[in-house]
Amino acid sequence: MESVKTLTVDLGERSYPIWIGQGLLSKLPAYLQTLGITSSQTLLVVTDDHVGALYLEPVLKGLQRAGFRVFSYSVPAGEQAKSLSYYEQIITYALEHKLDRQSVILALGGGVVGDLAGFVASTYMRGIPFVQLPTTLLAHDSSVGGKVAINHPLGKNMIGSFHQPLAVIYDTATLSTLPEREVACGFAEVLKHGFIWDEAFVDWLEENANPCRALQEPFLSEALYRACHIKSQVVSQDEKETGLRAILNFGHTFGHAFEALGHYRDFTHGEAVAIGMAVAAHVSEAVYGQQGLAERVTRLLSTYGLPVEWHTLPWSFEQVLEKMYTDKKVMAGRLRLVLLERMGRAVIADHVAETTLRAVWSLPFQ
Ligand code: NAD
Ligand code: MG
Repeated sequence: MESVKTLTVDLGERSYPIWIGQGLLSKLPAYLQTLGITSSQTLLVVTDDHVGALYLEPVLKGLQRAGFRVFSYSVPAGEQAKSLSYYEQIITYALEHKLDRQSVILALGGGVVGDLAGFVASTYMRGIPFVQLPTTLLAHDSSVGGKVAINHPLGKNMIGSFHQPLAVIYDTATLSTLPEREVACGFAEVLKHGFIWDEAFVDWLEENANPCRALQEPFLSEALYRACHIKSQVVSQDEKETGLRAILNFGHTFGHAFEALGHYRDFTHGEAVAIGMAVAAHVSEAVYGQQGLAERVTRLLSTYGLPVEWHTLPWSFEQVLEKMYTDKKVMAGRLRLVLLERMGRAVIADHVAETTLRAVWSLPFQ
């Protein structure tokens, strides 16, 4: 018997459910009906060619059987699909197929498809509804919270908006086909949610740490449920990132610098953020004196197959620092770091001395 976990992202009239469980895609028409979507509304499924090859056909068939008029558009897999060019192609396709203001976009895929399809939905005819159908572990992060964007040649996520989905329908069965590296990458953000918000979740992740079990139920649904719950609580309190929401960037200021210095080729986002969290945890310990915190963070990241070592990176402290100053999170020339005051409690610090950062950077690897 399938069990479905349910959460609500609490945003007043823009509130929406997150459903997590095995096999939910096979019940998609019923979930859409629960959301009040009827067969008089045209649907457009946006996906990529990896995900599409695996999951598109049964989704389309199920929707057609339920009487929906449904079209699909598939982009090449990978970050390059988050471009103005694919954005325009999808808009053109939607116009040609007469999607109107009542139509609904379904984003079937990882964070790339979610961000791209969500951005299309946020602007098509000044905004139409969309539903997130995440198929990666990392997408627990990207599908919740309403940030949607495409990239500009001069910067990642530089063209975007806030557009909350009608729902997140998370079929954990799709995760069984994820490449191993993508699984680890997704766990970086799962662990991040624990580090910044919920020590009990960190305890639980430690107790259940077993890479072989990472994709097994009930572990997987429980981990996703707890991580989505944290993300939705943060977003509910600060939808437009005027304050609190910035704590979700724990490890990301360093991580973005590593990604950029590696030309987005050497590391996945999750790997770069994992090393970033290791550095940030050491900085946190230096600033707030919580003995053992950094060791705990790095041990857990390693257990989930993530890199934590910055000592072997081919860049100098100066190169990393310079990159960090170009991050969009820099404000008025000050580095804003997310640190852990203690496990489960993140704070935003903009007064960390450069000498502290340099001292941490030069620490011997333990
Ligand atoms: P992705 O969407 O590129 O997916 C990773 C790879 O896995 C792709 O090749 C994809 O085709 C493949 N794939 C996806 N699901 C699969 C499945 N079930 N089986 C087999 N292969 C599958 O990457 P991602 O890591 O999911 O997302 C990264 C993107 O998310 C970035 O563009 C990032 O900027 C964005 N993001 C957005 C937010 C937000 O709040 N909007 C937050 C975090 C990340
Ligand atoms: Mg991230």
